[in-house]
Amino acid sequence: MRSTATADPVMAQAHNEWIEGALCPLHTPKFLCDEMLRGFGQWLRVAGYDTTLPASGTQDRDILAAAIAENRWLITRDRELLEHRDAPQHVIYLASDGLEANLRELTRRLNLDWHHAPFSRCKRCNTPLEPGNLPGREHPPYAWQKVFCHCPYCEQTYWEGSHVKRMREKLQRFGRWRRFPDATPTSA
Ligand SMILES: [Zn+2]
Repeated sequence: MRSTATADPVMAQAHNEWIEGALCPLHTPKFLCDEMLRGFGQWLRVAGYDTTLPASGTQDRDILAAAIAENRWLITRDRELLEHRDAPQHVIYLASDGLEANLRELTRRLNLDWHHAPFSRCKRCNTPLEPGNLPGREHPPYAWQKVFCHCPYCEQTYWEGSHVKRMREKLQRFGRWRRFPDATPTSA
């Protein structure tokens, strides 16, 4: 009954299966998604993961250099990125096609927790969100909805409307793809 080590065995198992000598943190990972994965990256932000997207036209070598400098996992659909010397420690190549399949693939490879910190980062710009409405802004976009957080950078507001409800439901669904949900012992 002794709880030896919270989630670590889970992550260790995920780690051993797919990468040796990983340099990026697997606990609370940070990400950089390549140009083809913008929508994908936005979902990582919705779940609360620090996720950057390169400016369009950025060269592969610069994207990889940024990932290394910032200790991020570079998520890509570009197989050529695997040929770079530093790729094994920093690049996660997604072989699947389509947003949903990509999300599922990463979930299973990292045992990604989609309830990490939902709505703590701006989906649009990755800035940490702040509670409540924009300072000095009395009226939310729709008067009957209560704004629960806002982005201090791009001024996007988030309120409990049908859009946010759908996003929460999607996070729930993504979470079911995890191989090792926290409450379930790993199958030996
Ligand atoms: Zn923002």
